[in-house]
Amino acid sequence: MNEENNLIDNLDKNCSVSVSREKLQSPKGTHDILPDEYCYFELVRNTVEKCCKEFGFGRISTPIFENKELFQRSVGAISDIVEKELYVFKTASGKEYALKPEGTAGVVRAYIQHGMSSWPQPVQLYYIEPHFRHDRPQAGRFRQFHQFGFEVIGEIDPVLDAQIIQLANQINSDLKISNHLKLQINSLGCAECRPKYIVALKDFYFGKERSLCDSCNNRLEKNPLRLLDCKAEDCQLLSFLAPKISNFWCGECASHFTQVKEFLTELKIPFVENLSLVRGLDYYTRTVFEFWDEKDGAQNAIGGGGRYDKLIADLGGVDVPALGYAAGIERIIAHMKTAEIKIPHDQNMQIFVAPLGVEAKKKALKLLEDLRKAGIRASGALGKNSMKSQMKLADRFGASLAIIFGQIEIQDGTIIIRDMKKGSQEIVLFKDIVKIIKNKLKK
Ligand code: AMP
Repeated sequence: MNEENNLIDNLDKNCSVSVSREKLQSPKGTHDILPDEYCYFELVRNTVEKCCKEFGFGRISTPIFENKELFQRSVGAISDIVEKELYVFKTASGKEYALKPEGTAGVVRAYIQHGMSSWPQPVQLYYIEPHFRHDRPQAGRFRQFHQFGFEVIGEIDPVLDAQIIQLANQINSDLKISNHLKLQINSLGCAECRPKYIVALKDFYFGKERSLCDSCNNRLEKNPLRLLDCKAEDCQLLSFLAPKISNFWCGECASHFTQVKEFLTELKIPFVENLSLVRGLDYYTRTVFEFWDEKDGAQNAIGGGGRYDKLIADLGGVDVPALGYAAGIERIIAHMKTAEIKIPHDQNMQIFVAPLGVEAKKKALKLLEDLRKAGIRASGALGKNSMKSQMKLADRFGASLAIIFGQIEIQDGTIIIRDMKKGSQEIVLFKDIVKIIKNKLKK
């Protein structure tokens, strides 16, 4: 045993707190977002903010945790998300809270709590937040992940369904991933027609239980719609033969869905009508939709949404219809990387300041401040003394220009500008440097 371990053992004996020797890692299924990765996050966030604002949405942020009951009553007590994946904790007084697994429940709770039904309708809100699901970590499936989403609360018109799909599609298109995605749409009917379909589904599966996987056997009683999107081969075969929801839609649901499709056609947004699309959350009614990867299909949906016309009333609010969409930022970034989409260059550092010697360093701090005040993204390696290591760093930052100065330049009142791509250099007056750099960056 080495000295360090001995020390830890002694500390263990002397202190009441034991010291673990395990290497500290981020919890399973979570990850740090390092600067190179963060550029992607920023691009997604900026795109979402820009598009949502253009469509007239206001940003909302709800707490990371809520009463556990909120999710039981919205997402559904027997949904996988609530039954298996919720992070729940109890306070000393015994109250149960849960980390939010999705965004809609919190937004709806806020709509009711803040009396938003008295605002001009529809209320249009968007969010960009971390979410938590205790799922088995795998590619594209994490325990902490980020979603952006938007909700339109207060109106029933099918044009809004098309508009929310249009917004999601606009974001995909601005992020240059829409070519790899296929929009799937379906209607889950309403409180009037869906129960009849569920009876027909249960009748169909009666006597076929032995062909179903264990999960589907569990779902058969509680949540038979989920049998339609099971990935097990035998379950899929049966689902092809199962009754189709389209034969059970009431007149209003059929007409609503027809209109959504007409609006999408008008918008030239291609879609696949997928009668097996059910989504994993209980609150949906009528239109549901997802954007699937062309190769992986449902396994790697980047986002999905739909109508939840009864949720606000179910949670104690007024009886107003609503709809929403949420997408996973990590999955979108994975798509951008697969498609080799580069982050636009203007995120990079523009100017790198390389001072040589103590006197130059003193001037460098002020010079950096002046450059930043002029709106230029500028940085410098003030702790480095060698020219070589400073230029290496300038390259890493992706700066287009470096400005270099030492004792001689300070005496002459000059400074060197180096074009990092061409490797060429010129000498200019120190007092004019900010103006010259601004002009050069304009070109
Ligand atoms: P959902 O409403 O559950 O369909 O989630 C919407 C989107 O969030 C999905 O299409 C994924 O892009 C993303 N998402 C959901 N769960 C996870 C997870 N565990 N890890 C990463 N992304 C997820």
